Amino acid sequence: MDILQNFIDGCYQDPIRKKYLDNIEPATGLVYGQIPNSCQDDIELAISAAEKAFPQWQATPLEQRADILYAIAQGIESQLDELALAESIDNGKPISLAKTVDIPRAASNFKFFAHACSQFASESHSMTSTATNYTLRQAIGIVGCISPWNLPLYLFTWKIAPALAAGNCVIAKPSEVTPKTAALLGEICQTAGLPKGVLNILHGTGTNVGSAICNHKKIKAISFTGGTITGAAIATQLAPQFKKLSLELGGKNPALVFADCDFDATVEQVFRASFANQGQICLCASRIYIERPLFEKFKRALVAKTQALQPEDPLAQSSKMGAIVSKAHLDKVLGYIELAKSEGGKVLIGGEQVHLTGRCAKGYFLQPTIIEGLTNKAQCNQEEIFGPVITLHAFDTDEEALALANESQYGLAATLWTNNLGRAHRLSEQLNTGIVWVNCWLLRDLRTPFGGMNNSGLGREGGFEAMRFFTESKNICIKY
Ligand code: NDP
Repeated sequence: MDILQNFIDGCYQDPIRKKYLDNIEPATGLVYGQIPNSCQDDIELAISAAEKAFPQWQATPLEQRADILYAIAQGIESQLDELALAESIDNGKPISLAKTVDIPRAASNFKFFAHACSQFASESHSMTSTATNYTLRQAIGIVGCISPWNLPLYLFTWKIAPALAAGNCVIAKPSEVTPKTAALLGEICQTAGLPKGVLNILHGTGTNVGSAICNHKKIKAISFTGGTITGAAIATQLAPQFKKLSLELGGKNPALVFADCDFDATVEQVFRASFANQGQICLCASRIYIERPLFEKFKRALVAKTQALQPEDPLAQSSKMGAIVSKAHLDKVLGYIELAKSEGGKVLIGGEQVHLTGRCAKGYFLQPTIIEGLTNKAQCNQEEIFGPVITLHAFDTDEEALALANESQYGLAATLWTNNLGRAHRLSEQLNTGIVWVNCWLLRDLRTPFGGMNNSGLGREGGFEAMRFFTESKNICIKY
């Protein structure tokens, strides 16, 4: 039995009250480990470690801070196989995906912010012949980072790396559903020379540990990625506390496919955008709008491609589709498929749970699913399903496509598939999403602002946006 510990003050520690939660492997449906069910006392320990560490970490020369972050990246790279295996077991994602995307990206996050901390600059405003203003951007102090289960180490480090680069001490909580790689990160940081107390990793439930981190008076900023309902609860709690808050929330991302697109490449990329990581990426496409003259041809090609995608043991090297993260989530996604049918949707392919044999006989597998015939206002087109389920729709004009895409409470990401440059620019400007990809998906430059509009969140991560979030700005005006 794999029993995890919290990482506090530079060492692994049991939870004070010795309470634990089961950790289930989604591919087998079996308990394979336990994680600390931490409480307020564990948080107090972490806070006092972070308080002690902050003055020195804040004053650490930038080059030294950057060297440590770079060493963490190298530590992650050197444990690629072990981390990828842990991620695949914990989350149910194909091991090849963990090896080529999740873990390398976690290392890139640290490398990127190792460089960013030495490139980050602040402004100066001259009041000609009177005074000069300059702005300092200083570390905030202790900050909280809370991440979800879908890209566990990838999103955990996407928050922690800029927070540390900016000179803060961090209390971080991974999802209780996927705690393993976050637990391994503690040792990597220690080996890389991160001073004790600078990063503290606590395990436990969101309603218990997550909420306590958000509400702790000594934690001055919260960076949260997760569901919109959780984000709204956190925002409500934190509003009277005047903390800095960054919220990266859910999505219901449209893909707009025009008749003039590069057909084969578009089918390939829309397929990938729909089903990568079992559709459990906040940026996955879920509403596919296709220009009417192309609709039937595109539908046939997408269905044929999807037919060849079958869930498999995520630990198999050949696996392209793994397990859904938990029984509760599988039931939720299946519930949406039933709802789609009752809303008039026709399942073109998939729609059923898959029962594998052998080791994975009790795992949580689902067929990739394509549905057509729903109205845009149907619940299944308006609520985030967060699984391998997409809907298809035909449209006639650019204006109609835009209106359908924008008819959503969310506004995270959109994709446009066209060779008409004018249309690409025009629609990109008019889509109400924080990110628009034209003829590509998930092509990421870490310098760019990342985040959503409307119910998809508040604020932006990435590049200097993240460095600004994790610093407090102070203007100094000098009269002469
Ligand atoms: P949740 O909102 O359930 O949980 C996210 C994190 O918050 C987890 O660590 C969770 O802990 C914790 N948490 C839960 N309740 C609270 C609370 N009251 N106070 C503080 N923390 C809490 O999301 P999921 O883990 O289910 O993740 C899926 C969601 O994340 C989807 O909606 C997806 O779209 C979104 N997401 C958004 C991204 C973006 O960049 N916009 C990227 C990736 C995902 P625990 O798991 O232990 O309950």
